[in-house]
Amino acid sequence: MRATAPLLVAAHEDCWEHRPFPGHPERPERLRAALEGAASAGATDVAVEIDEHAVLTAVERVHDGGLARRLREACAAAPAIFDCPDNPISKGTYRAAIAAVACSLTAVDAVLGEKAMGVFVPARPPGHHALRDRAMGFCFFNNVAIAAEELLARSVGPVAIVDFDVHHGNGTQAHFWERDDVFYLSVHHYPFYPGGGGADETGGGRGRGFTRNLPLAAGADDAIFTGAVAAGLQEILKTTVPRAWLVSAGFDAHREDPLGGMAVSDEGFAAIGTMLGQARGKSPLIAVLEGGYSLEALRRSVRAFLVGLAETAAS
Ligand SMILES: [Zn+2]
Repeated sequence: MRATAPLLVAAHEDCWEHRPFPGHPERPERLRAALEGAASAGATDVAVEIDEHAVLTAVERVHDGGLARRLREACAAAPAIFDCPDNPISKGTYRAAIAAVACSLTAVDAVLGEKAMGVFVPARPPGHHALRDRAMGFCFFNNVAIAAEELLARSVGPVAIVDFDVHHGNGTQAHFWERDDVFYLSVHHYPFYPGGGGADETGGGRGRGFTRNLPLAAGADDAIFTGAVAAGLQEILKTTVPRAWLVSAGFDAHREDPLGGMAVSDEGFAAIGTMLGQARGKSPLIAVLEGGYSLEALRRSVRAFLVGLAETAAS
């Protein structure tokens, strides 16, 4: 692959169509903030076409078929609450969730087609809390887990997943718990929503040692948070040789975030981008948006992260 291949953005307007009730933090305007941040980092758009049948095939590698069907049917009767109080839905939520997966699959196509070494997916709704048969924590379909399974289905593995969202990615961890073809690293606020992610959770069966949780106390600043990411990346590289990298890129550890309770700055996210760029070497990387609920901090953090990532791609 060309080391200087451009940084792309895989987005779709249907991701606007998930409209929780007014005042919900996971609001459509997050998509615009993330897109503006990516554009200001010099990322360019790749076209996303939605093939619902292909999306559902990919979704069903991670979720029970009933989840997608239930969501589609529930949206017809929206507004409503779906599976848990955090997950209000609108008429367009199913369309948005399908589009978020389609963007993630387009990103896989782009990196495997050598169109890009790196793709940013401003997905909404986000995904890392979504369980096999249940939506939770603003998430419906687990975009990153689905992209990892798509890579593996195309014989691209092992895969590393780096989750720096301030919340533990319980859905992703659960899906890959007993797997040694995917390394799951999470750096997060702990104890905190959704409750798990202790350092003693390291995978089960043949997957033992392929899950690594680095829980951090409230108020972690750039030094603490980026230090944990660096330690986690070293552990990935000691344990496995990833052929592709996925990132659950949540920006809710930002000090301006209303939910996260941490103190990471724009520069901290730039440093994480640079570290990821160095760790992945010449392997492709797809960063999928998870949280980040201050629009202004989200815009700046996405830009900082992608600039940090792109620096290493150009060198
Ligand atoms: Zn989060």
